[in-house]
Amino acid sequence: MKHYRVATIPGDGIGKEVLPPARAVLDRVGAHHALSFSYDEFDWSCARYLAEGAMMPDDGLDRIRHHDAVLLGAVGWPGVPDHVSLWGLLIPIRRGFQQYVNLRPISVLEGVPSPVARALPGEVDFVVVRENNEGEYSRVGGRVHEGTPYEAALQEAVFTRRGVERVLDHAFTLAGRRGGRLTSATKSNGIVHTMPFWDELVAERAAHHPEVAWEQEHIDALAAKIVLDPARFDVIVGSNLFGDILSDLAAAVAGGIGVAPSANLNPEREYPSMFEPVHGSAPDIAGKGLANPLGAIWSASMMLDHLGHPEAGAQVMDAVRAVLASSPVRTADLGGSAGTDEFTAEVLSRLP
Ligand code: ATP
Ligand code: MG
Repeated sequence: MKHYRVATIPGDGIGKEVLPPARAVLDRVGAHHALSFSYDEFDWSCARYLAEGAMMPDDGLDRIRHHDAVLLGAVGWPGVPDHVSLWGLLIPIRRGFQQYVNLRPISVLEGVPSPVARALPGEVDFVVVRENNEGEYSRVGGRVHEGTPYEAALQEAVFTRRGVERVLDHAFTLAGRRGGRLTSATKSNGIVHTMPFWDELVAERAAHHPEVAWEQEHIDALAAKIVLDPARFDVIVGSNLFGDILSDLAAAVAGGIGVAPSANLNPEREYPSMFEPVHGSAPDIAGKGLANPLGAIWSASMMLDHLGHPEAGAQVMDAVRAVLASSPVRTADLGGSAGTDEFTAEVLSRLP
């Protein structure tokens, strides 16, 4: 029996509703693979911020540093500015634990309607690799001439050679393993310092991965192509901002944000990696038992992959695929009438 300690951060709104399904799936599939999980729950959230003035305690990172993985629901709540939840919790964990790879698989699953006619099940299956630690999400900058007609805001993006190289190497290696191609998102025609540097490093790293065919696309054209011809992609790598935008776009193409998973990886395994659905806390449906737990369940399957149990991870996704392809049970965002628990029970019933 292999045992894992998982730190769970349910967060706000439906974050608290989608984590129990993810845990139930992990426990069920784990039992079949001689894996056991214990969960330590942390109440870090906007609710905590409103009550205590901070999303998490000062020594938060130390409390979860020795866990094997972090499972996060969603953080964000009306009345708490988004930058508070982002900079008060998500970014400290991503950066503090050097989770520099943000992995977002995009697959059109049979039975999940896509708003894009050419996004066909089985044909669209790619991964967005987002740089997760630096780039455009930077604190460098500020305001000048405040309160005058000359007021201006300056924002510096920070691209380091080491930071870009390591995420590119991860993306090229992944593309090599998938036997496919890599597309790099750029904008070096308009952004004249950071993006040409990014392009240069892509070409440099490509030379170390001769087995991978690669191309680069300007972010605007790439966004259009993801909508018009999503099946042509295999691995897309982008900076923090470009990767963020593309992965939400691609998630929508694949049938909705309630389905989309993500992994924040520290590939060296010096620190725990964090797994979270792409969706937010969805205040409009929170507390009603209506949330689609699929994004969280899929994220748990990515956690199993990362912990070295890809066969268990695949079994989870097989169960999910089976439910969507052959049962009418699904949540309202996918056109069904099931609640969170009913859908979860249906997935559990397809697991051994
Ligand atoms: P945040 O700022 O936390 O990212 P948001 O308002 O940008 O929040 P979401 O919370 O992801 O975005 O919600 C966007 C819409 O998608 C809402 O109408 C919400 O109800 C719906 N939604 C998001 N996740 C789910 C889910 N898991 N199941 C069903 N509907 C969902
Ligand atoms: Mg959002």
